[in-house]
Amino acid sequence: MFMTISTTGTPELPATDLGFLLHKHPDKAQTFSTSHGTAHVFYPEASPERCTAALLLEVDPVALVRRGKGKGRGGAPDAALAQYVNDRPYAASSLMSVAMTTVFKSALRGDCRALPGRVAAPLPLRIEIPALPARGGAELVRKLFGPLGWEHVGVEPVPLDERFPEWGDSRYVRLVLEGELRLSDALRQLYVLLPVLDDAKHYWVAPDEVDKLLRAGEGWLAAHPEHRLITSRYLSRRWGLTRQAEQALELVRLAESDDLDVESVDNAVDESTDTPERPVPLAQHRREAILSALHGAGASRVLDLGCGQGQLVQAMLKDVRFTEIVGVDVSMRALTIAARRLKLERMGERQSRRVELRQGALTYTDKGLRGYDAAVLSEVVEHLDLPRLPALEYAVFGAARPRTVLVTTPNVEYNVRWETLPAGHVRHGDHRFEWTRAEFREWAVTVADRHGYTVAFTPVGPDDPEVGPPTQMAVFTLAESDSASSDKRTSTHANTNEREKEAKAA
Ligand code: SAH
Repeated sequence: MFMTISTTGTPELPATDLGFLLHKHPDKAQTFSTSHGTAHVFYPEASPERCTAALLLEVDPVALVRRGKGKGRGGAPDAALAQYVNDRPYAASSLMSVAMTTVFKSALRGDCRALPGRVAAPLPLRIEIPALPARGGAELVRKLFGPLGWEHVGVEPVPLDERFPEWGDSRYVRLVLEGELRLSDALRQLYVLLPVLDDAKHYWVAPDEVDKLLRAGEGWLAAHPEHRLITSRYLSRRWGLTRQAEQALELVRLAESDDLDVESVDNAVDESTDTPERPVPLAQHRREAILSALHGAGASRVLDLGCGQGQLVQAMLKDVRFTEIVGVDVSMRALTIAARRLKLERMGERQSRRVELRQGALTYTDKGLRGYDAAVLSEVVEHLDLPRLPALEYAVFGAARPRTVLVTTPNVEYNVRWETLPAGHVRHGDHRFEWTRAEFREWAVTVADRHGYTVAFTPVGPDDPEVGPPTQMAVFTLAESDSASSDKRTSTHANTNEREKEAKAA
């Protein structure tokens, strides 16, 4: 059983980073023992331009039969076992998928401390499996991989015997997948779909297989047109388990279509609970601070990322200096409310050409967000789980790369000043974290350094001498002629450090 994973690269983003993402060094050939044999990982090629990792699984038929005896259905070796013993050895199958969990455990989870930006970003991938057992044939293989974001899904039936074409095709196909995907997404697809195509799981399907399936299927399975076939085959047609999985997927679909009950609710609450001090509500302070920073940066084409119910978009529309305003949010519900607030339906043509609302997840790169003057992330970062933050960071600072980025977030130190807030509580139920001034600075400076920006900090709302302002804002500016030259990066670093020091001194 054999699979190769290749990527291409540039001097700045070398292909050999694949070694970090897979947690397997390109200079080494490594061997792992799995429950059914031995897995080898090695790199047939490893240059900055092109890197290929190969996973070869040698199945130990004796171990397989022994296991089959002990654990197979009814105690007897499964009939399906025969294929692993007798059949061609290079078939990828459920055994391969089990081997992947041993060998590429961290990569499947998308963990990579060494290169958090890389692991969160799609990369040009080519995955080849020369002999994939495919019950349902080439057509089913295309149906399964087709909707998963690959640019090219190459499926060629493998003839039963090349010398006798009249014998027809074997049950194997050669699969080549090409496209830009995150490595962990690609691996999780294979982890599920290899056994689905093989359609003969070699081990007893335990109830925790449902959880494994849902975890590996996160982000793609619920919306897959063939989800029923996938769950049913993956769970070896165990009806009860399949139904359990289907119900869970249905909930995911519901949540996606009606996303953010939480966020839109607390976004609505935002204006009232966040702003006990009248007459100027904090949300208004924030919008004013943002508008004035945008003017300062001379921005006219602006992204409002995580625009919520569109209050800032509305304020920008009233200002003719903003010629193009794009509000992005993951919540369809928030966007619907925003559209109503802006009266998009009844807007004149001239106005409506200035504004666009689009649904999107900020943790995914989006080519359509490139080339803007500025992006605003107003009270958004704290809604993401910390491990998802690098993905957002990359999508905004690495991929969209507007000249200016404004980020506002609560200053947790100020929480003691909210009379209504019980000690130790965050301001909203959906805040995953709230940062001190120092924590925010540390994050912002690191992000700026990593992506060639300088950063300055501005208080929003009354700046308390002890605990600081209720809201903190970072203004990121793309370093002049940021052509990724290393000198520039160093000077950026120096700048941000200087600012840091000044800020501390102040
Ligand atoms: N910017 C607005 C809304 C802040 S509430 C304001 O300042 O008032 C946070 C918003 O971020 C919510 O509308 C939520 O739907 C959105 N959001 C959270 N996580 C997101 C993600 N991963 N992708 C896109 N939007 C997200």
